[in-house]
This record gives sequence, C-alpha cells and structure tokens, in this order.
Amino acid sequence: MNEMHIQSINLSRLMREGGSTDARGEILDYISLEKEHIPLEGPTQWKVAVTRLEGEGGQEFWLSGEIAGYAILECRRCLTPTPTPVRAHFQYMLRYQPGLAELQAIEEDEEEILLFGHPDLDLGPLLSEAFALELPFTTLCKADCKGLCPVCGANLNEVDCGHHEKPQTRLGAALSKLMGDLKD
Ligand SMILES: [Zn+2]
Ligand SMILES: [Zn+2]
Repeated sequence: MNEMHIQSINLSRLMREGGSTDARGEILDYISLEKEHIPLEGPTQWKVAVTRLEGEGGQEFWLSGEIAGYAILECRRCLTPTPTPVRAHFQYMLRYQPGLAELQAIEEDEEEILLFGHPDLDLGPLLSEAFALELPFTTLCKADCKGLCPVCGANLNEVDCGHHEKPQTRLGAALSKLMGDLKD
C-alpha cells in the first residue's frame, strides 16, 4: 500500500486525545471534479494539518492545507496543452457528525462549517475544490506565443505558412484578388 496516494486523514486519535495531526501525499494524472477532470503534469503535492478545537465537546476541528502542482491547460493562442503552475491554500472548520455519509457544508453564525461522518476524513473533495478555485482562466505556452494563423490555422510557433506577413481576412484576400483580376 502506497500511503503517498491516499487522500485521507485519520482523526481517531485526535478525537480521543486532542492535539494536532497532519498528512501529506501526491495526486497523479488528474484532479476529479463533479463534472470534469483537470489533467495534471507530474505529481501534485498536498499537505494538510488538523487541530482539535477545545471547548466544543471535542467534535470541532480546524483544518488547513496546501496543494501545488501543474495543471495542463490549452494555450489561449495556439491551443497547445501547456503545464501551468497552480498553488492553493485552504482552511476549513470541521465538525464530526457520526454516521453522515458524505461531507456536507452548513452555515452557522455566518461561518461555513463542514460536517463529516467518519474519523477517516476523505480529503479528495477539499483538495479538488481548492485546486480548481486557483486554476487560471487562461494560459500561454510562452510569453511570445505567435498563435495560430487566422487564414490556414497553422501553429505559427512551428511553421511559417507565409500568411501572417500580410495579415488579412478571407474577404480581404478575395477582394485583392478581384482587384488584381480587374487590372489585367
Ligand atoms: Zn501557444
Ligand atoms: Zn497560414
């Protein structure tokens, strides 16, 4: 069993004795969201620390963590899949509610509290959400990416199709050909 790939933290000891505990690991290949997957380049590292809060019947916990890696996004100019750095910090107030099947967010005194039902807390949804929130809307494969040729669609970083020297639309090209024909 490779502990690096388990995205959970066991809070049994914390529930009995109080104090703090932490866990770390890696996510490979992709981050799973409800409706999509974010493909990853290399291992995405995460670490999480949980502290039991005193004076709440020993059922409340403060979780803080960090996740960092490279998401593969399309370059906004040339559409090449591009590894893009993502780093997120996150914090949650947790409350143990035995028997609850999955994480549930509630609001109490204008504070969000996550309810969880098992001492083995599944970190997957927390890590995915934190990562997704920090995902940039767009990326560039390089600062001076030349993009795609608007005439033939060639990747101008890779080939010189010749069109971009006189940028023009299809209509412009048709008109100048027509004007040329009229002159003859
Ligand atoms: Zn590009
Ligand atoms: Zn072209």
